[in-house]
Amino acid sequence: MNTDPNCIFCKIVAGQIPSKQVYADDYVIVFEDINPKAAVHLLVVPREHVVSLADLTPEHDVLIAHIMRLLPKLAQEQGLTTGFRTMINTGKGGGQEVFHLHVHLLGGDDLRGIGF
Ligand code: C5P
Repeated sequence: MNTDPNCIFCKIVAGQIPSKQVYADDYVIVFEDINPKAAVHLLVVPREHVVSLADLTPEHDVLIAHIMRLLPKLAQEQGLTTGFRTMINTGKGGGQEVFHLHVHLLGGDDLRGIGF
């Protein structure tokens, strides 16, 4: 599996940097964003180092399907009964700050009309 020793999310995956982890499986770890933008703000992070959405290959199809199916389950576990928001920032121009693919899962507040 591809990892990058200089990547902060790889370090979190490896347990070298602490995080408030709420879920983990063979494909991903999920932890609370350190700078939450909503009452619930989780990051779904693949264990494998993939730089961004733009770097996915067909080899990642199972991973991506897994993440998409996991997101509503996490939302349900977090009690986000009225809905939730998912977000992927891609590249500098897309607002990506950590160059290890991750999906933001936000909710717990009424996000109607709120942009990030
Ligand atoms: O999508 P983007 O790359 O901008 O998001 C990175 C996110 O990672 C930010 O919301 C930031 O608060 C979060 N972060 C974190 N823990 C770190 C470093 C960044 O939760 N140690």
